[in-house]
Amino acid sequence: TLPLSGKAALVTGGSRGIGAAVARRLAADGADVALTYVDAKERAAEVAADLRTTGRRALAVRADSASATDPVAAVRSTAQEFGRLDILVNNAGIFPNGPLEDITVEEIDRTLAIHVRAALLAAQAAAAHMTAGGRVVTIGSNLAERVPRPGITLYAASKSALGGLTRGLARDLGARDITANLIQPGSTDTEMNPADSSQADAQRALTALGRYGTPEGIAAMVAHLAGPEAAGITGSVFTVDAGANA
Ligand code: NDP
Repeated sequence: TLPLSGKAALVTGGSRGIGAAVARRLAADGADVALTYVDAKERAAEVAADLRTTGRRALAVRADSASATDPVAAVRSTAQEFGRLDILVNNAGIFPNGPLEDITVEEIDRTLAIHVRAALLAAQAAAAHMTAGGRVVTIGSNLAERVPRPGITLYAASKSALGGLTRGLARDLGARDITANLIQPGSTDTEMNPADSSQADAQRALTALGRYGTPEGIAAMVAHLAGPEAAGITGSVFTVDAGANA
């Protein structure tokens, strides 16, 4: 049997990029998977349809991570549809960047809402449905620990908060045998950060391996942390960045 057989997962931001790769990998490993999106209804439906071809149940839910209520509603829909919830992957994200003087209050609030508040609300709601063996995996960024250029203060600040979130969740949920871990990708080839953009070579030059990572590479780390072999790992941070922070 597959490592995640009988499990149900929710992946936020699953219409493309890392989230879509995570959804595909968790389904391939045996889980039923719900994914959220905010704009890309068609693409989310296509990912869900793909997952169903593996024989799993799949659900695409519109849930704006910037909202104070949608993250909880998405958890509720997932648990209702699948009858359980075992794995939460907080992945939805945006990339605000630009000169310090251009950052607005609205942009700060929106970024913190999507990256931090939504992850905390979803984890809180998901934990109420989880049983022993439950998993919370959050997607942060290697920029949380090292900021190699100007223009990304807000993004780095928002992703840094996820370390504390993860360690706190590990302590809050450990007695129930639920784990919480953080994956910090480096430059990963997606629509957010295409490997053929004008800024890509500068990012590659920062890495030890001289290359971008892949969404599938991040998904493999999620699958490991979500699976039975990672039962003893909680409150930990895994940077998957081709050595950029080394
Ligand atoms: P993409 O831009 O390719 O995909 C973003 C996904 O998040 C989409 O599914 C999008 O949905 C969804 N999303 C965005 N805003 C919201 C919102 N308000 N509510 C719900 N869903 C939303 O990004 P990546 O796959 O590259 O990034 C995924 C995660 O990985 C992010 O947290 C990002 O910060 C992180 N990361 C990425 C790196 C990279 O180099 N690519 C590096 C380090 C971290 P829709 O299609 O509907 O817009």
